[in-house]
Amino acid sequence: MSNVDHQLIIVGGGPAGLTAGLYASRAMLDVVLLEKGAAGGQVMLTDWIDNYPGFPEGISGFDLADKMETQAKRFDLEVKLAPVIKMDLIGPVKTLHLEDGSTLTCRALIITTGARPNQINIPGEVEFTGRGVSYCATCDAPFYRGKTVAVIGGGNTAVQEAVHLTKFADKVYVIHRRDALRATKIVQDKAFANDKIEFIWDTVPTEVVGDIFKGVTGLALKNVTSGATSNIDLDGVFVLIGIRPNMEMLPLDQLDNDQGFIHTNVEMHTSQPGVFAAGDIIYKNFRQVANAVGEGCVACLSAERYLENNE
Ligand code: NAP
Repeated sequence: MSNVDHQLIIVGGGPAGLTAGLYASRAMLDVVLLEKGAAGGQVMLTDWIDNYPGFPEGISGFDLADKMETQAKRFDLEVKLAPVIKMDLIGPVKTLHLEDGSTLTCRALIITTGARPNQINIPGEVEFTGRGVSYCATCDAPFYRGKTVAVIGGGNTAVQEAVHLTKFADKVYVIHRRDALRATKIVQDKAFANDKIEFIWDTVPTEVVGDIFKGVTGLALKNVTSGATSNIDLDGVFVLIGIRPNMEMLPLDQLDNDQGFIHTNVEMHTSQPGVFAAGDIIYKNFRQVANAVGEGCVACLSAERYLENNE
């Protein structure tokens, strides 16, 4: 048929990649999914998922990722542990350079390398992730009904999610390192008008305080102007200080993007013919498992159509 290694390669094994892989293997395309560690992506780090349809009791992130991979493998999807370090996407043959020095070529490529939340890098943060430290209020807010939580950050995400959290929590602190928010005025005004929200200005957290049985119990804080330190009691901490695309292996000069987030159209085409993208790596407002899965499906169907028209 052709002088490439595979018709289609998918890079990244989170929900978007595994869904693209399921559709591609079921359509009997010659496809391989490349992953740099265990498949599952950020979902693997999510303790419990209540808002992915089909699991009325909720499901752990680990189990959901495992089920997605098992389902794709039922149709013989080949999943390879092969970190990609470089790509050349120009022209009809796409070349991927792997960490072991080898290369793989394909006619169509789906990029689903995801993103990762920025961390504050303080003691206790990693230890209590999933046990009171969260990076997604949309995902975890309902677990904090009647509780006290803090949001770290002053951007649109932090301030909007603080307002969202007040639907569940009794008290929401917004802890910001400056005395002015980065969030737009309309978002700020909503938060200032909400009497469940209290702002703590010019302040950074220095430690997530917790207990191996209870999880998070509080935060140690430092005022960056006066140097004064304090502690607050909390049930949860939402770290919402931006996200970073997993873009290290992407040739950003070959793909339209915004600071590493790839621009796609509604059919998940990127600016490069034959290259599609889905999931958290694309430029969009909402990052949920449910929309990543939908985008993975669309990316695969678009890649299939591209291959039909170009082989
Ligand atoms: P962002 O705009 O980059 O804001 C990050 C916030 O975290 C900033 O307030 C920043 O403080 C703070 N921060 C960064 N590193 C920190 C650290 N190490 N310790 C403490 N605080 C730290 O990120 P985002 O809110 O996730 O938004 C990302 C993009 O999506 C933005 O362009 C945003 O406008 C957009 N967005 C739009 C909407 C909407 O239109 N409704 C909703 C959500 C997001 P400083 O301000 O001091 O830098």
